[in-house]
Amino acid sequence: MKTKYDFLIVGTGLFGAVSAYLLKQKEYSVLMIDKRAHIGGNVYTEKVNGINVHKYGAHIFHTSNKEVWQFVNSFVEFNRYTNSPVANYKGKLYNLPFNMNTFYQMWGVKTPAEAQLKIEEQRKEASEKLRAKSEQLGIPCEPQNLEEQALLLVGRDIYEALIKGYTQKQWGRQCTELPAFIIKRLPVRFTFDNNYFNDTYQGIPIGGYTHLIEKMIAGCEVRLGIDYFQQKDELDAMADRVIYTGEIDRYFNYQHGHLQYRTVSFETEVLEDVTNYQGNAVVNYTDAETPYTRIIEHKHFEMIGADVVSCPDTIISREYSKEWQPGDEPYYPVNDDKNSALYAQYEAMADAQNKVIFGGRLAEYKYYDMHKVIERAFEVIGQL
Ligand SMILES: Cc1cc2nc3c(=O)[nH]c(=O)nc-3n(C[C@H](O)[C@H](O)[C@H](O)COP(=O)(O)OP(=O)(O)OC[C@H]3O[C@@H](n4cnc5c(N)ncnc54)[C@H](O)[C@@H]3O)c2cc1C
Repeated sequence: MKTKYDFLIVGTGLFGAVSAYLLKQKEYSVLMIDKRAHIGGNVYTEKVNGINVHKYGAHIFHTSNKEVWQFVNSFVEFNRYTNSPVANYKGKLYNLPFNMNTFYQMWGVKTPAEAQLKIEEQRKEASEKLRAKSEQLGIPCEPQNLEEQALLLVGRDIYEALIKGYTQKQWGRQCTELPAFIIKRLPVRFTFDNNYFNDTYQGIPIGGYTHLIEKMIAGCEVRLGIDYFQQKDELDAMADRVIYTGEIDRYFNYQHGHLQYRTVSFETEVLEDVTNYQGNAVVNYTDAETPYTRIIEHKHFEMIGADVVSCPDTIISREYSKEWQPGDEPYYPVNDDKNSALYAQYEAMADAQNKVIFGGRLAEYKYYDMHKVIERAFEVIGQL
């Protein structure tokens, strides 16, 4: 075991793993540590009863960046999984994202022209209300909250069934109390296309994400179950430079206060002798009364056709959206004015650290999809 490395990487998530691979290519020596007992950060998948379970929430890889797609496929093969979630509103099912299938299920309309007419008719209530308000005040008025914005974009039927309850559960607040900017756009498709993403490439690594990370970091020394801050001086002394992918406020000992997050808790159940619970990987529960937001059935990410039935059991996770408290898993940064200002203070401190590079979603306090994290690691390590 070596005692001196070119780089110490704190965190074996996607940012750390891509960085480790690129540094190895440049012939740097790397030591990786993680406070968790496993590699992979939030993309970690664990095999249970023959099924790869997405432990920290469903992860679907999608990108239009060919370089990123070829990069991940150079480690493992990806399958043809296409994300096409279904919404369950009070027992009735609708396809997502909003497309001709949804409009047929909602109103029985069969052609794009009929659907367009229906949406226009639905949007009229909100647009007329806004026009009247603008005339009354003598200035152009904008929607004041998420509800007004959604009604203006898609009208009442879709808003009530597919947006209102789900958004309330996600944010823990009424839609009338949420800012309009959260849903700047609500894409509606006038084709029978249930593919959630518009990206050119999409899929799941065959064998799970842990397998992908293993391949990326092959040949690097990895130590698990080590919290960087428990032995910071000792670890820092072992490397010339540090790549830190943990929480930026923790690095600076919360000097300016805690950054806030939204978090999700998962209730995972193994259903023995149930081959197919809901027929789809993702089902959203869009009413306000069901306490969870989604049910994920993990086998559908990788098993297609006959494989679904030949695997005798299934595993489901109910997802509950929660307000984050210190100590909870930090999932989604809250990029409002207050937290952005706080992050700017920490960012200035990070910029002044010449031995440490801060990268990834926690260290940059930014929601990154996986392909964006990879692009970011390409950029950061490319500059070294
Ligand atoms: C619920 C959810 C669903 C998502 N779904 C998708 C999706 O479908 N598609 C998509 O493209 N993206 C998705 N993402 C985003 C994806 O998870 C991220 O892009 C990716 O995981 C970020 O990687 P990272 O390395 O920056 O962070 P992380 O995965 O969080 O890795 C950071 C690592 O650092 C370790 N660490 C932190 N502090 C310390 C310390 N003090 N000492 C030692 N180790 C430490 C942590 O244990 C962790 O392993 C989703 C995110 C969430 C939260």
